[in-house]
Amino acid sequence: MDIKIIKTKEFKDKPMDESKLGFGKIFSDHMFIVEYDEGQGWHDARIQAVENLSLHPASSVFHYGQEIFEGAKAYRRDDGEIQVFRLMDNCKRLVNSAIRSSMPELDPEFQYEAIMQLINLDRDWVPQSEGTSLYLRPTMISSTPALGAHSAHNFIYFVLCSPSGSYYTNGMQPVRIRIEAFYARSVKGGMGRAKAGGNYAASFKATKEAHNDGFDQVLWLDGVHKKYVQEVGAMNIIFVIDGVIVTPDLGDTILPGITRASVLQLAADLGYKIEERPISVEEIYEAHSSGRLSESFGTGTAAVISPVGEYCYRGESIILNNNEIGPVAQRFYDLLTGIQFGRAEDKFGWTNVVPRR
Ligand SMILES: *Cc1c(COP(=O)(O)O)cnc(C)c1O
Repeated sequence: MDIKIIKTKEFKDKPMDESKLGFGKIFSDHMFIVEYDEGQGWHDARIQAVENLSLHPASSVFHYGQEIFEGAKAYRRDDGEIQVFRLMDNCKRLVNSAIRSSMPELDPEFQYEAIMQLINLDRDWVPQSEGTSLYLRPTMISSTPALGAHSAHNFIYFVLCSPSGSYYTNGMQPVRIRIEAFYARSVKGGMGRAKAGGNYAASFKATKEAHNDGFDQVLWLDGVHKKYVQEVGAMNIIFVIDGVIVTPDLGDTILPGITRASVLQLAADLGYKIEERPISVEEIYEAHSSGRLSESFGTGTAAVISPVGEYCYRGESIILNNNEIGPVAQRFYDLLTGIQFGRAEDKFGWTNVVPRR
């Protein structure tokens, strides 16, 4: 499928002060968009000005929430070139989310090519200050204008680019986490493995209540036993127990994070012992009281690594590593950001330069 390029007639002003970018509030000049109609397949792929979508109020996305998305970043290297980090993995994961959500597949190679062309066209929107990046948001929605409660017949895939600030404007800070004893983010047999908007909608109430009580995020437990650790907010979670990297094994309730996979691969390469297995809250508290739990941190594209300073379960708090960033968290943060920004050796071939054309 050809990608038509319809350049914008009104180029927007780029943000002057990169220290005030924030996250996901500013969008570049162009977006990629392609449409799907049952019987016809994907068609009309184009890169065009970012503009509002025109959707009938009955469109199924508004009623039944058939929506999935991705999150990736493009980084500006010191030599001015722009590179992406494991972008093909995001494109493949979107296909898995689509299958789980009864949405049509879109060839990962095609997604990748479209996103690379989009970044190339808007390459001046990739910020250059330390820690900043161009956040990429591929999204698929259902657009059939009818209220029948079944999978839609029409879909739209689009990609937005948003210059975003450094996640850590004041340096990496350990966070306070409430272990969520009531709400569940996902359940066995559910949608937890898909990167779907509905999972986020289901999570906001618990997060808001945790914020109101002075916590930064929640640690989700499994929906069946309310016992085993799942994820921290919208990040995967890792523990360091007796020097071993321990993380929940992926089932259908946990989002298979690309940052998680990267940390595990780097850790294996560095000779760490790794365990992917169920971890109960009880085990965490026991490991803490016996002095074997040295660190815990979340992993995700936005923050890369987010160290946990405190867990609180049913009012009982434990402090990790003196509420300071641990050496393992720091090590993987430095390694990953080094590769992403092109300052460290990319021995696994995770980065690709955006070709100029
Ligand atoms: C996106 C996401 C993650 C992190 O995935 P990365 O590929 O590392 O960015 C973890 N958990 C949830 C629920 C997510 O949506």
